Amino acid sequence: MLNLEFIRNDFPILKRKINGYPLVYFDNAASSQRPLSVINAENIFYKNDYGAVHRGIHTLSSKATSHMESVRSQVASFINAASQEEIIFVKGTTEGINLIANSWGLNNLSINDNIIITEMEHHANIVPWQIIAKRIGIEIRVLRLGENGNLSLNMLGNLIDKKTKLLAITHVSNVLGIVNPIKEIIAYVKSSGMITVVDGAQAVMHHPIDVQDIGCDFYVFSGHKIYGPTGIGILYGRKNILTTMPPWEGGGSMINDVILPTGTTWNTLPWRFEAGTPNITGIVGLGAALHYIKNLGLDNINKYESTLVDYAHKQLSLIPDIKLYSPTNSTGIISFNLGKHHAFDVGSFLDQYGIAIRTGHHCAIPLMRYYNVTAMCRASFAFYNNKKEIDRLVSSLKHINRLLNN
Ligand code: PLP
Repeated sequence: MLNLEFIRNDFPILKRKINGYPLVYFDNAASSQRPLSVINAENIFYKNDYGAVHRGIHTLSSKATSHMESVRSQVASFINAASQEEIIFVKGTTEGINLIANSWGLNNLSINDNIIITEMEHHANIVPWQIIAKRIGIEIRVLRLGENGNLSLNMLGNLIDKKTKLLAITHVSNVLGIVNPIKEIIAYVKSSGMITVVDGAQAVMHHPIDVQDIGCDFYVFSGHKIYGPTGIGILYGRKNILTTMPPWEGGGSMINDVILPTGTTWNTLPWRFEAGTPNITGIVGLGAALHYIKNLGLDNINKYESTLVDYAHKQLSLIPDIKLYSPTNSTGIISFNLGKHHAFDVGSFLDQYGIAIRTGHHCAIPLMRYYNVTAMCRASFAFYNNKKEIDRLVSSLKHINRLLNN
């Protein structure tokens, strides 16, 4: 069981008041808050051990390098990768997917090939594919949403032919909170020999991830959504695929030898994909965040958050005129609209009462189109939220509805 009182004390920002009201932070899917242990880890690292990694033989350089490499092995164990060579530090989910598209995609796809994405993807898992599709003339096929926003294996099967090379799919929808049956989907497309890319940005903070069990070739996520720093994320890639991939960015640290005019050779995994000075402090902070999460236990977090989301669903559904888009078993996220009121108006009013939700298209314009709306309100939850905060959201929404209806 999680001790919420202790947990909330770990997050200094939760004591803040906004517009005179205690903050209710329901924008966790956009970016979660950091516990003191993460803030302190970065602070202490800067005070004691900071130095540029890899190239120095002095004490601070080797300390910083060992911090970085120990976080790499911590991440490998967090998602059960077979080896730490499979863990690449990137800026975030967006950069991870761009890396795959530009390295694997540009070197393995050719004109008349096709790839599949879904209608529920975040733009980060759409636009990088569109950019390379334009360059090399591949077709992008879209797995449309079925009933209640779910994806269907039958519909997926209808899209696959001999020229289908890759599936890029989100693990959890950032708008609906739907958890896709990712293991089943991966197993299904693997029988056609396709490469699989899983966007784990909305999954890693809610339940344990085992990339070997999932069976995917690539899995990406961002540090700032899992209580870690911004500007750091993880690309997991299966070793036998990564070894065949050329770098997508050139610079320091990613080379074995640099030979003029054109004979440069590449470093081994994982550094081949980490050109330039990495976000060393962000990596240290990510390590502290994973340590914090591991101590709480992702199974405990999942259990607690499920009861919270369940409660939120029940309470929100009692509000007159509300339309809920997320299914009752959604993970961490409930998206809704209140009558005919624009999501921006609802979000601005809630902010007046100290309640932070996200409004807009949530970087998922195709999904907005599916629902025939331009914007939604999204409340997204973390293990430091509680039922009292949900009650405040619900009573504020009722109040706003009355005000806007007059
Ligand atoms: N994919 C999903 C499902 C997301 O929710 C997000 C962020 O909201 C991203 C990708 C992009 O993540 P980042 O901006 O950290 O790269």
